[in-house]
Amino acid sequence: MTLVGLVVAVVMAADVPAMARPGPGLRGPAWIARGNIELTPELRTAIDAVARVYREKTKRRLEVTSGYRPAPRQAAAMYAKLKAGGSLAIYRNRRLVDPIIAAYREGRRKKWKREKVIAAMTEVLTAQVARGEHISRHLEGRAFDVRSVGLSKGQRAALMAALAEVGGMRVIHESKPPHYHIEILRRARPSSEGAGDEDKGEGDAGRGEGTPPDSDKGRGTDDPEDAPTPD
Ligand SMILES: [Zn+2]
Repeated sequence: MTLVGLVVAVVMAADVPAMARPGPGLRGPAWIARGNIELTPELRTAIDAVARVYREKTKRRLEVTSGYRPAPRQAAAMYAKLKAGGSLAIYRNRRLVDPIIAAYREGRRKKWKREKVIAAMTEVLTAQVARGEHISRHLEGRAFDVRSVGLSKGQRAALMAALAEVGGMRVIHESKPPHYHIEILRRARPSSEGAGDEDKGEGDAGRGEGTPPDSDKGRGTDDPEDAPTPD
């Protein structure tokens, strides 16, 4: 590399914090967004709060790998999963999942292009959202994913502690692919339906570490708001 090239490379590296590894240090942003992700102000506030506590404990930055997923983005993610031969079993609300899978299969059977299949899946998701039904909290801008690969036991514990300190969130450690899925719980609000209207903390600590989302089968409630939405 020429001297000029070297200088340019160094300047670029310094100017692009997103490219920096989340190494030790207490300066700069407390977290890093990975890839082309979307975040809402509510998500940024939540991530900031958790990442600051996490950094105090570990001197490291959190890596956020997913955030707000409007319908087309959610459809594309589900398309990729199905195309790869994966299952959508993690989405446990079959009433919402099945029509999306049906749209995918119909498009594939008709040999539609990827974009057209995703558009058909998006249409189903958009109609569900319009009815106030969300297959994933990412669709509502109320979930974000954090990279778990490469975190030490101590760092994982620090993340759990940071979440507990900040409060109002629930974490699920997912295995395929490995990541922490963190949901922002709704604040309790007065309601004639009583406790069922409020997110319960049942998933928080117990399900956190290394426990697949399926493990709480049968112990949930019928309240869709209370049920965790993995992925
Ligand atoms: Zn997630």
